[in-house]
Amino acid sequence: MAIIKIDGLKKSFGQNEVLKNITFSVEKNEVVAVIGPSGSGKSTMLRSLVHLEEINGGSIKIGGAYLAENGKYPKAKEIQKITAKTGMVFQHFNLFPHFSVRENLEMAPKLVKKMAKADLHRMSDDYLLKVGLSDKADAMPGSLSGGQKQRVAIARALMMRPEVLLFDEPTSALDPELTGEVLNVMKDLAKDDMTMIVVTHEMGFAKEVADRVVFMDGGEIVEQGTPAQIFDNPQHPRTQAFLSKNY
Ligand code: ADP
Ligand code: MG
Repeated sequence: MAIIKIDGLKKSFGQNEVLKNITFSVEKNEVVAVIGPSGSGKSTMLRSLVHLEEINGGSIKIGGAYLAENGKYPKAKEIQKITAKTGMVFQHFNLFPHFSVRENLEMAPKLVKKMAKADLHRMSDDYLLKVGLSDKADAMPGSLSGGQKQRVAIARALMMRPEVLLFDEPTSALDPELTGEVLNVMKDLAKDDMTMIVVTHEMGFAKEVADRVVFMDGGEIVEQGTPAQIFDNPQHPRTQAFLSKNY
């Protein structure tokens, strides 16, 4: 079953056509890595899936419901219902700096799902354990390393029990020695059958963890396939050129 179905997606900023007719879908339990040069539209595509950008044409279906149909959006309440099925992890963590780690985790489910305090606590304890940060519940984000911040961001996204998790270059802002701890958490999620779209420059991670690799360039999907197909036997000259520089 496709959890995400994108069909003929178009997005422009003014005259700049950033996404040109993007079509692809993500199956339940699938891990899809999106690679491609800077400016190719990877972030814009992810942001469109969580309604941080509005598209100009085409359709996005999430969990069987249209977030956008032929470029048109439903009412705000319906949009909220659909985007609640997704969680997003950003390059720069986007934690709330004035709230503790636990408050960062519990804020959205408390507001949106009106969960009881004891249930919220139990859940945040579980997810902090999962990302290896049980001892940081009361810490403030500013006291954490980048790798710890990103693991908090992942736990926070999980608190909403999304059907699909989107990652936009989750390790690009980290010192190299901290990327491993974040990638390991993501590998665990993949093993737990989490459905994920991961925009990444970590080719090793894409090769090892992804079921499918999508190569984007100039606002288009140029080529997609299994990691073996894309990394060992790329067909398109643009894919070949990109990989010869980055892999
Ligand atoms: P990537 O994530 O692959 O580096 P982006 O999706 O960030 O690519 O950007 C694709 C193109 O869209 C770039 O040319 C970028 O300058 C442009 N762009 C992205 N966001 C905006 C915005 N908010 N306003 C205007 N142009 C934007
Ligand atoms: Mg980007």
